[in-house]
Amino acid sequence: MPKKILSSYKKRRNLTKSKEPSGKEKVKLKHPIFVIQKHDASHMHYDFRIEIDGVLKSWAIPKGPSTNPKDKRLAAPTDDHPIAYATFEGVIPEGNYGAGTVMVWDLGTYKNLREKDGKELPMEKCYKLGKIEIDIKGKKIYGEYVLIKTQMQEGKKPKWLLIKMKDKDASARRNPTSTQNKSVLTNRTLSEIKKDSKKGEKEDE
Ligand code: MN
Repeated sequence: MPKKILSSYKKRRNLTKSKEPSGKEKVKLKHPIFVIQKHDASHMHYDFRIEIDGVLKSWAIPKGPSTNPKDKRLAAPTDDHPIAYATFEGVIPEGNYGAGTVMVWDLGTYKNLREKDGKELPMEKCYKLGKIEIDIKGKKIYGEYVLIKTQMQEGKKPKWLLIKMKDKDASARRNPTSTQNKSVLTNRTLSEIKKDSKKGEKEDE
């Protein structure tokens, strides 16, 4: 785990108070992972994270991903997270960065689609160039997606857009962010996760 990249993540969290992963855990999988966490913080949003170079590159998407190629979903880059964070579900206590309830809304793997001269263009490079094309294999979100950086001006906050590419999985009718609102890991709603976390606190006392 590159220490430098994660120092900002660690600084902003009190790891003894919060049950989030510390970044020390080791997770090894054949394919790079992706996760979408629904996060009921000061504003409800979806955290879209994909594994690149040993960390989870992250974007906050207020409306969440769409399955309709006509939708362009604003994706604001946020802190890199450790890979182990992909399975974190629970409540980040008040007063901590990102305070609120976190649900693992979707989890799976992805395949990099970008090529140059018949060879895969490394994800690190795609990220730097501001254009990521991936084939996602999740339970709710699947098929080809593009993440594209639109704000390139120096000194301005970068802006990205997440867009579904036209393929067999594209659908203007499916609307998983409104019809599928339970955890892909535990089948719980946000309020059930919150309730269970309160129960856990009482048992710890
Ligand atoms: Mn968040």
